[in-house]
Amino acid sequence: MKPRNEFEKLVVASNGELTAIGSKAVEWAIRNAVKHITFRTSEHKCTCGDCGEKFEYKGKGKSVRCPHCGHRLQVTDTLKRKHQEKSYFSTLEVIGGLQVQKVFLLTAIYCKGEPMDFYYDEVCRLWLNVKGQGAVTSRLRAMGYYQDSFCFASPIELRNMSDVHLVISDTYTYPYYSVLPELRRNGMKGKLPDCHPFELMKALLADHRMETMMKAGDYKAVEYFIYHLLDLHTCWLSYKVTSRHHYQIEDFGTWCDTIRLLERSGKDIHNAKYVCPTNLKAEHDHWLKKANAIERKRRDMERMEKAKAHEAEFYKNKSCYFGIVISDEDIEISVLDSLEAYEEEGSKMKHCVFQCEYYAKTDSVILSAHDHSGNRIETVEFSLSQGKVVQSRGVCNSNTEYHDRIIRLVNENAYRFMEARRASA
Ligand SMILES: [Zn+2]
Repeated sequence: MKPRNEFEKLVVASNGELTAIGSKAVEWAIRNAVKHITFRTSEHKCTCGDCGEKFEYKGKGKSVRCPHCGHRLQVTDTLKRKHQEKSYFSTLEVIGGLQVQKVFLLTAIYCKGEPMDFYYDEVCRLWLNVKGQGAVTSRLRAMGYYQDSFCFASPIELRNMSDVHLVISDTYTYPYYSVLPELRRNGMKGKLPDCHPFELMKALLADHRMETMMKAGDYKAVEYFIYHLLDLHTCWLSYKVTSRHHYQIEDFGTWCDTIRLLERSGKDIHNAKYVCPTNLKAEHDHWLKKANAIERKRRDMERMEKAKAHEAEFYKNKSCYFGIVISDEDIEISVLDSLEAYEEEGSKMKHCVFQCEYYAKTDSVILSAHDHSGNRIETVEFSLSQGKVVQSRGVCNSNTEYHDRIIRLVNENAYRFMEARRASA
């Protein structure tokens, strides 16, 4: 790909100047980026993957130190003789006034009885200037099933940035790094937070909030907000309140959710009383219930408002059936005669007779079947065109023991609906 602007020209020039990675960085990556194992067989005989020497380990621990080379190893119960580990790692360098994150793929090969072997290859470089412009120079991506396979014979040259580049660069970073003076000034020095290095650098150049959190040494906040920018927008002022009150946020996900719930519940999210809870989980659950109740109420009001638009028509079409009551010794079935009656029936019976606007259906009359003390049993839909019941439903759309009896009763009285309609015509 040809450079399209001054920045990309500079990237291409600097890309040609980069030198090979130092052996110290590779040593660090081998120790920190890949898993180290010991092959253990059922007789508890261990073989160190790193040095190839043998030792005994009967313990239950997940890891053990090799008595020969002193390396910490993960105990792997296996009869296999070969094992391979792969991991990406990266370094941060400055060249030609540009920041670059170089991404490598490291492969460690463990053969039982032999010292570990490894190889590594550079995959891509993510470039950034002080203005926050980004570019990537990379090997060619190989087409195929795996998104992150690259042709290692192809040159590292300017290419279009893809999600794959961003995913693989979210990886271990060599702690001896160099960054642009502007990044140092904005708080990037010493130990790095455990998050995407490139995204962190971009954010540090563009967003004073990241700078504030980095300088305050609140790495937990940085690590969370780098991946949740929307939460940062919503919760930033609340976050500032917590840091003024020296409140430690243990679980950022739950805390941000709580802030959203407080906002939905109409509470002041800049008030320490709300944003610095002693029991976050309990507070979260409390405001979740509140916010849901408010939401339900709002929806109900909206629905009723919408229903009111049909009210005149509803009375015009349905009032001739009001007053029809069908009963036997146990059951009484009566026509629902107002929008409020539909709403109550729907909410008490937990079904959709109101939400689905049955009151507006011109072909249907809705009846409520209850016992003689008024306890609801089922809700009945009677079709005027078919002259019979088309459905009858109990709580949550279940059927009750009275189901067949209710349908029979209403169908036997179908003529009363026809008479009522004739009388009103
Ligand atoms: Zn060893």
